[in-house]
Amino acid sequence: MTRPPPVAAVAAGVALAVLVAVEVTRATAPPVAPVDPSTFLDPAALQAALDHRTPLRWVAVAAALLRAGTAIAVVWWVARRRGAGVVAGRLRLLRVGLAAAALWAATDLVRVPLRLWAWRRAVDVGLSTQELAGWARDWLVESVPYWIGVALAVAGAAWVRERWPTAWVPIAGVAGGVVGAVLVVLSPLLFEPLLFDLRPLEPGGLRDGIDELVERTGGGGDADVLVADASRRTTASNAYVSGIAATRRIVLYDTLIDEAPEGEVLAIVAHELGHDLHHDVERAAVSLVAVAVLTAWAVDRVVAGRLTGADGRVSTRGAVTAIGLVVVLAVVFGPVERWSSRRAEAAADAAALALLEDPGDYGSMLRGLARRNLSDPAPPPWAVGLFHSHPPIASRIARAASGQAP
Ligand SMILES: [Zn+2]
Repeated sequence: MTRPPPVAAVAAGVALAVLVAVEVTRATAPPVAPVDPSTFLDPAALQAALDHRTPLRWVAVAAALLRAGTAIAVVWWVARRRGAGVVAGRLRLLRVGLAAAALWAATDLVRVPLRLWAWRRAVDVGLSTQELAGWARDWLVESVPYWIGVALAVAGAAWVRERWPTAWVPIAGVAGGVVGAVLVVLSPLLFEPLLFDLRPLEPGGLRDGIDELVERTGGGGDADVLVADASRRTTASNAYVSGIAATRRIVLYDTLIDEAPEGEVLAIVAHELGHDLHHDVERAAVSLVAVAVLTAWAVDRVVAGRLTGADGRVSTRGAVTAIGLVVVLAVVFGPVERWSSRRAEAAADAAALALLEDPGDYGSMLRGLARRNLSDPAPPPWAVGLFHSHPPIASRIARAASGQAP
């Protein structure tokens, strides 16, 4: 009879409690019934949005099944091969990590045809202006850092597992989670200057409006407001709050300032300040550490004896099986993460409405978003539950119309 190492079980229990605490203490917004899409889209726009989005719901289902199915197939194939996959020699742990990263990459590669099809359709309806080369470059920029991250994380976790076989779950989980959380919090600061030139927003009406919003959050009056020259790269418009403490700043894409009326820019800034007020970045960072510990615990429980060869060293077969499990868990628990995200987004909407002097601007901003993005006007509950990180646009417009405060 084998008993789980108590330290791993205790760590998993604490991590679960932390996740529940993050969710329970989150600011929430009361539920709203969605408005009829015909109130914000004319019949032609409504039909165009439905034509575009309906098949994409099924593409999302197919992609999730393909991802989990590929992970299971690779694990099965590795399990049938002879030898435990024990590697020796220099860079042994890195090779173990690369084998695991190869499984991860395979689950990305099998979904490329679906992504290509979705991109072709986005070009057809004018949502994307990208050429194939640009699309491929973006796919690599989006995917390769994950492959490198998986290889390094697995090599590190394997090193910890070999050194502290009974205590590796909290050690590797917390260390991996903290590194991930620091990257998430700092990445805008590291990558912003590589992507864009940033200049301070000139004094004027917009600057004054933003200062007023920041003042209403009670967060001190002198926030740095920067403009990024995003128009060099994209037509998309965006705004976000990044940094911590002294490096905290609000960044606006120049595309946003050029295209949207001032009231709508303020509406977007107010939404970002709502996330800030609710400490959503800090919550995400803490959750990431807890999820990393729970993931290490699950690997320890499920993969257990297959993780190492007879010599106690982590094998490539063990590492590949572990990452296969992680991929399946990510697909299965993805909807829980998206449920949490929808709660945070609804609360940020409600906070923004309370911050804005004219909440009517919020509705105009969302209606503009619905038209430009061909957002799914009436997604079925199963699609929202499985795949949506934000509440459906018709629900967000309903909240704006009712002007509900948190
Ligand atoms: Zn948001």
